[in-house]
Amino acid sequence: MKYIGAHVSASGGVENAPLNAAAIGATAFALFTKNQRQWIAKPLEAQSIEAFKANCATHGFTPAQILPHDSYLINLGHPEAEKLEKSRAAFLDEMQRCEQLGLDRLNFHPGSHLKKVSESECLATIAESINWTLDQTRGVTAVIENTAGQGSNLGFRFEHIAEIIDQVEDKSRVGVCIDTCHSFAGGYDLQTLESCEAVFAELESVIGFKYLKGMHLNDSKKGLGSRVDRHHSLGQGVQGLDVFKFIMNDARFDGIPMILETIDETIWADEIKLLRSYEG
Ligand SMILES: [Zn+2]
Ligand SMILES: [Zn+2]
Repeated sequence: MKYIGAHVSASGGVENAPLNAAAIGATAFALFTKNQRQWIAKPLEAQSIEAFKANCATHGFTPAQILPHDSYLINLGHPEAEKLEKSRAAFLDEMQRCEQLGLDRLNFHPGSHLKKVSESECLATIAESINWTLDQTRGVTAVIENTAGQGSNLGFRFEHIAEIIDQVEDKSRVGVCIDTCHSFAGGYDLQTLESCEAVFAELESVIGFKYLKGMHLNDSKKGLGSRVDRHHSLGQGVQGLDVFKFIMNDARFDGIPMILETIDETIWADEIKLLRSYEG
């Protein structure tokens, strides 16, 4: 079973996200559980949590179909102690919000070295941040998203993610989310069915599909290996549609939330239909 949806708005309260997802015919969704551009958020209200759970139940969304995304401000690999502490505290808060909502995974970007420490040092710091957070939470998996490698962001090579996972103590609660736009911008050619076969074979050998807890389905405005993160609507970017045909016909992508983060939300319902049309 393929679960497909989009990163929908939670404005007015997290309980609105499942309603917004149902309205576009989605069987999966992503959301921010707080304002993603602010450090501090007020706690979720009991009423909002109950309404979220009720709306998910009504529309048939189970935790395996929901992929919350953390704030863009968080850098779990920050080279400066004070800022790292702030990021870790914010990440813990995000994990606890997921716990409260009954969700089982949280998607985040690994972190940036800001050219102040080596890649390996930064990856070790990220792993330590994950260990610190998992120690204080229950039931939520930390899902590392691959990045486009813009600036000093790590996670654009599968090897970076493998190096983090290797240093995580509880491997049952760490996972990966692959963003097709980020993969392409990061240098993984997803333009043909053959190249997709090769890239996903590399994913299997370097990280392993057993860690795959979500996908982000986006076309890219920028070219292969550009290291620039600019999403586009499916079929309107430079990546082409073969990657989506490939994914929709491969059982390794069953049972996980697959999320559109494409730029025109008015066509999400059509993009979901397009993806469904590829199913064999
Ligand atoms: Zn992301
Ligand atoms: Zn993404």
